[in-house]
Parts: sequence; structure tokens; C-alpha cells
Amino acid sequence: MQQAFRASILHCLADPGPHASEAAVEYFQDGILLIEDGAVAQLGAADELLPALPENTAVEDLTGKLIVPGFVDCHVHYSQLDIIASYGEQLLDWLNRYAYPAEAQFSDAQHARSVADVFLDELLRNGTTTAMVFATVFPQSVDAIFAAAEERGMRLIAGKVLMDRLCPDELSDSAETGYADSKTLIERWHGKDRLGYAITPRFALTSTDEQLEAAGRLASEYPDTWVHTHLAENQEEVDQIAAQFPWSRSYLDVYDHFSLLRERSVFAHCLHLDAADRALMADKGGAGAFCPTSNLFLGSGLFDLQSMSDAGVKVGLATDVGGGTSISMLRTMSEAYKVLHLQGQSLPASRALYLATLGAASALCLDDAIGNFEPGKEADFVVLDPDGSTMTARRAQSAASIEELMFALIFLGDDRNVAATYIQGQLSPATAQADR
Ligand SMILES: [Zn+2]
Repeated sequence: MQQAFRASILHCLADPGPHASEAAVEYFQDGILLIEDGAVAQLGAADELLPALPENTAVEDLTGKLIVPGFVDCHVHYSQLDIIASYGEQLLDWLNRYAYPAEAQFSDAQHARSVADVFLDELLRNGTTTAMVFATVFPQSVDAIFAAAEERGMRLIAGKVLMDRLCPDELSDSAETGYADSKTLIERWHGKDRLGYAITPRFALTSTDEQLEAAGRLASEYPDTWVHTHLAENQEEVDQIAAQFPWSRSYLDVYDHFSLLRERSVFAHCLHLDAADRALMADKGGAGAFCPTSNLFLGSGLFDLQSMSDAGVKVGLATDVGGGTSISMLRTMSEAYKVLHLQGQSLPASRALYLATLGAASALCLDDAIGNFEPGKEADFVVLDPDGSTMTARRAQSAASIEELMFALIFLGDDRNVAATYIQGQLSPATAQADR
């Protein structure tokens, strides 16, 4: 079945870089996105494509709105949805005071499913169509998020947290049970529909050597699964890692030692790395998740995008809710701009969009399936409405270019500007509610 959507359409073909390379971006002021069986069939100017469409093709007229690829959130904790914006601690205290008590509730499968439903609908209402998600230590919390994503047709990566030291007893697994439960979940979910499994040690501090070894063994046994963990978020954490693994050259060296640094390994934060770490990460094909709202909120540090890019490390943008303070990728892009600005680095709108779409897809090794509107890719997209709020409507009137309009939407926009989200060409019911 063919469907055509008429609107302004913007997507990235490559990384526009800090100087906003125009060749990396494609824009149609009056464009047509043609979809067939949930995949992109064609993209082009309306005056060229409209006359060539078969007579019975339905054309959804979204003139005045802007279609961009669905946003990709490279690192988020669904179990922390309800502790977002919890006051005033640094990482290690914040985990103990807020995150662990919230995660303990996910032993209850019903609670897990009800949070998973709300969480995914919030993602969709904010234009996020794919995410890499931390569940909790409980296998039933992984079942819940995968089942909820499958019901919505979403492309989603998730995994069970592995954690067997320095954590509350009720949240602790062991090297053996963590390995066995992960294996069962991989067999159950990995590669089913659009779902993928991530082997998910919380971070090196909360796993014994035996557990990290078992995780590395899983990563080798299932090479097309992902590895998802935290790296070098907070200086106190980095110091504790050095004490726990005195033989290691660096924090990243610990993961590398246990065979957890490879293609499809995604590391949240990457704030306190040196040049040797970045070179190693690029060489092994690992990727960094840039979590600006979380890094500012927890006072962790500033992500050095330029050094990561110069070293050839793939980077995607991420909310890191609940350490992060917004589930909106628009808000996350605007905070990324500020983090970089403080370091004398620039982030033009086109590159911010890249980091939230094609760049993030590339960081997750999913750029052959999603991230832009190349023919054949899965048709996940967002319809942004510049008239969604009074402020954006006013600002849009004086925007002289698409770069200027997109920049204003990044800074002023929120879920009111997400008119609709489509998954494989289907309107998401989460965005179709009248009472938004
Ligand atoms: Zn996190």
C-alpha cells in the first residue's frame, strides 16, 4: 500500500559537522514522502512527484508542518521515569537515594508494564521512535518494555541490568544468574520484530570480575547483540574504578579487558576520557552517548564532542532520564548546544538534528534501517508543527531559512510542537489523542 505525505521535509545524509555542511542535509520546502508497506519508497519535491503518483494514492496534506526522521534516544532508563527531577545529588548518592528504590518496584511485573506503557507513549508524544533502554535487574522488567514496544511496532533495544556488588540486596543478581537470565532474554527477544537485546552491566563499579567476565562471554557468544553501559560519568566514580581495578590503565580499559568493547557497544557519558581512550574506542567500533541534561543536572561534566569526533568515535544524543531532566530530544539538543558552547564548540541546528537521528542511528549500528529517508529505510518520522505554541509560531514567522527555523524549534519547541509521530508509516495512537 502506498501513502504520500506532503509537507516541508528535512533530513541528514551525513554529519554536517560544526560548520553545517549544506551537502550533508537535504531539504524540500514543499516535499513528498512516499511510503510503501512501512518503508520509504521515495522522497522529492511535490511538483515533481505529485504528477507521477498512481491515481489512487492517498496524499496526506501536512502543508505548513515539517517532517523529520523519528528521533533516536541512545541512552535512557525507563524505570526512572517517575524520579525525574529529584533534587540535588551527585551520581553515587543519587543512585542510592532515588534510583535504587524506584528500580526495586520493578520486581512487580504489573508495575513494570504500566510504567513501560506510559514511558513509550511519552517517547512517541515527543517524537522519539527508537531508544536504547536500561530496564532493571529483574527479567520481568525487560519482558515488560519489549512487550510494550512490540505492541507499538517500535524499534527498540533493551536489556536486563547486571549488578552484583555495591548495591542493595534486593537489586543484586550474581555472575551466574545474571548470565543465565540474560541468555534466556536474548533467546526470547533478540531479533524478534524490531527488537534487539543489549547486554547491560550497570557500570564496572557494581559488577564483580566474575560478572564482567560472564557479560563478556555473552557478548562473544551473541556478537550481534548490543552492549550498553555507563562510562566515566563522574570523577568520584572514576577514582573508585581505579581503586577497584588497580591493574587498569583507565576506566575504558576495564571494559576492554572483559571483552565488552566492540562494535555495538554503547557507553553513556564518556566525560572523563583521555586521547588513548578515544582512540581505543574508535578502533574497536564502540560509540558514545552524549547526555547533556543529565551531565548538567548531576554536575558531572561537559561532553567533548569535538575530541570524540576528531578521534573517529561515533556519537549519538541521549536523554538519560531520570538523571536527565527531559524526555524531549528537542530539549536535549538545546542543552547539547549549551554544553558545547561552554567549551568553545559550535552546534548548528543541522548537526543537532543529525546527532538525534542519523548520527544516533549510526552510533547504535542501525543506520542501515533508520535515521533518514533513504529509500528502503523504515518509515519512522515526526511531524513538527511550528505553530504548536505561541512562541514558536511567532518565532517561525521571522525565520529566514530552514536552519534558522530548526534552531528555533530546538530551543523553543516541546511536545506541543510534535503534531504526530509515525511508526513504519502508521500514525502512533499516542500522538493522536484529542486531549493533548
Ligand atoms: Zn544512565
